[in-house]
Amino acid sequence: MSNAFPSVPLLLADPDAHARAEVAACFRDEGWTVAEAADRAACLAGFASAPGAVLVAHEMADGDPATWFRELVSEAPRGTRFLLSFEPTMELDWEGLASAGIDEFLERPLRPGLVRHRLGRMAPSAGPSEATGCWMEPDAFLGCLSETLITASGDESKVAVISAVLEVPGQDLTCMDANGERAWNERLTRQAHAAFEADEDGSLASLLPGLRLCRPQPGVMLMMIPGITRLQESARIGARLQEHLSQPMEQGGRMVEPQVGLGISAFPEDGREAAQLAANAQEAARRARREGSSLMIFHTEAMGRWAFERLTLERSLREAISREELRVYYQPRVDTETRRIKGMECLVRWQHPELGLVPPGQFIPLAEETGLIVPIGEWVLREACRQNQAWREAGLPKIAMSVNLSPVQFRRTDLYAVVMDALAESGLENSGLELEVTESMLMNDPKKTCETLQRIKSAGIHISIDDFGTGYSSLSYLKRFPIDALKIDRSFVMDVTTNPDDAAIATAIILMGHSLKLSVVAEGVETESQLEFLRVLQCNEIQGFLFSPPVPADKAEVLLRMETFPRSIAA
Ligand code: C2E
Ligand code: MG
Ligand code: MG
Repeated sequence: MSNAFPSVPLLLADPDAHARAEVAACFRDEGWTVAEAADRAACLAGFASAPGAVLVAHEMADGDPATWFRELVSEAPRGTRFLLSFEPTMELDWEGLASAGIDEFLERPLRPGLVRHRLGRMAPSAGPSEATGCWMEPDAFLGCLSETLITASGDESKVAVISAVLEVPGQDLTCMDANGERAWNERLTRQAHAAFEADEDGSLASLLPGLRLCRPQPGVMLMMIPGITRLQESARIGARLQEHLSQPMEQGGRMVEPQVGLGISAFPEDGREAAQLAANAQEAARRARREGSSLMIFHTEAMGRWAFERLTLERSLREAISREELRVYYQPRVDTETRRIKGMECLVRWQHPELGLVPPGQFIPLAEETGLIVPIGEWVLREACRQNQAWREAGLPKIAMSVNLSPVQFRRTDLYAVVMDALAESGLENSGLELEVTESMLMNDPKKTCETLQRIKSAGIHISIDDFGTGYSSLSYLKRFPIDALKIDRSFVMDVTTNPDDAAIATAIILMGHSLKLSVVAEGVETESQLEFLRVLQCNEIQGFLFSPPVPADKAEVLLRMETFPRSIAA
């Protein structure tokens, strides 16, 4: 047990560099994995690596400590434990801090042994460092589940209980000696961990510290996963587990495939009692085993149906790229005065074999949740560069192609390298590409985002803020970030000629943009009167159905050949 907790990655947050270095060295000597953070931004960046625990100095708080820590805790991955260190002479707002999400309070000087002890108190059976560390006896498992349910009702989180019924051809799992059991426990733990860690956007890995396993009967496994916020997470965990548990294994000198039936029940939807949830999950797992070779069944029918549809969609989205089902549509961005096409926005669509043309709103959120937005986003970037270069080589007017970015691309890839690769591969000059980011993207890890955008902008690529006015709209970041243009969100443009509030907002954005030397684009312009209103305000460019909806490349090419939209028309 003594070396069980150092495997919980620790984030050490303290503005005092000297104190921090001293404490960090001391913990590292004891075998802990320690990351450090000097301020809030570094702390937020540190959360990306899913620390099991955050040891944070009270001095980090800027302003009212309870409010400050509440905000910080809300940004951390679910299940992260917060330990606050403080000087014994300090007066603390104990209640406020506890309700802000601080789990434990530690007086300085800190001792690693005490930290380990406190962490141990929070999760009695230790983290999953040893291969079999998260296994429990069935009674202890139910007791622990009961306690977990009490915590979950308090913080309104969900707990998934998953049961797996395993059968291995050629092996009788019902009669194993202690060594055999240990070997199986190790194998199953490894696979369970791999299932969580293989998740594309990394969000499941943060649930690992809470994972507990038991074997209520030979060949049957039960696991509890606390800290879930949405039901679909249990479906994703189930799907990953099934994939990993049924991986081929060696049995008597040949490879065999374990048959797995998986059953899932979730608190509070499927029951409020530990025993009931465990029984429901096991019953669903047995049914799954009876009904098919490797099946996953949810205790609740409705959830089963929903999860099935979603997983089916996820599976086919995964294949959409290789099956060449994705399409880029192009929508012109037009100079308000001259009506010349200045650029095209690339908008992705999914040509689904059965569902038809699926708009991005219906699959981008799923793609972001599963991490599939990374390959999709890269594909769109490459396609944008390739198409623009092809148009240029065909002698069409030189325009810039703009591509929407997702926050996941900032977090999970070296965006600069990806962008440069796409440009190099196509031969397009850098100024032929523009990127669209949203306000919330800038607020998410502003330091790193700003650095990445600086590099991109220094390479001559323009950056605009999409859907402007719907997010934080903080003036300070407009100055701080290397931005070239603002795109006024369609919701303000829609009624700009009839609603005085919208007119005032659009006017303010245009004036502010111009005073900061930014170009302003209005999105969603559908009528000549909206265009006229924006033209009088000297809004630089407009985009919208008035000139053209997003269209496939061949139709976009026709518009581009025309170069300028005539005065009196909508296309
Ligand atoms: P967006 O970037 O703000 O794109 C503008 C959206 O407004 C497009 O919807 C476009 O069809 C629609 N639109 C343009 N003019 C008008 C108009 O006059 N009237 C009306 N009613 N709508 C208009 P779309 O293509 O459905 O895209 C929706 C959103 O999906 C985009 O909003 C963007 O945030 C996202 N998206 C699209 N392609 C990609 C992509 O490749 N990557 C990422 N990360 N997001 C994308
Ligand atoms: Mg956009
Ligand atoms: Mg937009």
